[in-house]
Amino acid sequence: MMRNFTFSSRPKEVSEASDSFLQCVVSALGEIKDPEMPTVSLAELGMIYDVDHHQGRVTVKLLPTFVGCPALHLMRSQVESKLVRIEGVASVDVQFVMDESWTTDRITEEGRKKIHDFGIAPPSAEFEPHKALSCSYCGASDTEVVSMFGPTACRAIYYCKACNQPFEGMKFI
Ligand SMILES: [Zn+2]
Repeated sequence: MMRNFTFSSRPKEVSEASDSFLQCVVSALGEIKDPEMPTVSLAELGMIYDVDHHQGRVTVKLLPTFVGCPALHLMRSQVESKLVRIEGVASVDVQFVMDESWTTDRITEEGRKKIHDFGIAPPSAEFEPHKALSCSYCGASDTEVVSMFGPTACRAIYYCKACNQPFEGMKFI
């Protein structure tokens, strides 16, 4: 039997899956963290695009946050080594979806909170070009962009005028 569904933006479907094998795979996937922000899971970032299985062969489609992100090969091996331990899994095929763009609105509410816990300001829910993010230290909104080039492609450096500290934030895309 083949099951096919898309969740991530509607994580509720995951727990409603009637297929217990699939549920097992999905819950194992939910434990895999982002290599760059280990407080946040790939599922919370909205990166798990699709999960399929057929006679023990599992196919996982991931939507990369940024195409060419150097962490992709690491994510692939994390997914493979995690799922291959599940009873009944014969093989794991990880594919990256390249014809659709990941956007920051795929990040779940819980994911935004965990990005904040990691010390990075989560992206704003809507695109506001003239407004920077709230400070990740004091929460003030009187901030400005210092550099669009942070330590990774997904992040930028901001400066808080309230507490006079630079902080990292995730770019809205
Ligand atoms: Zn501040």
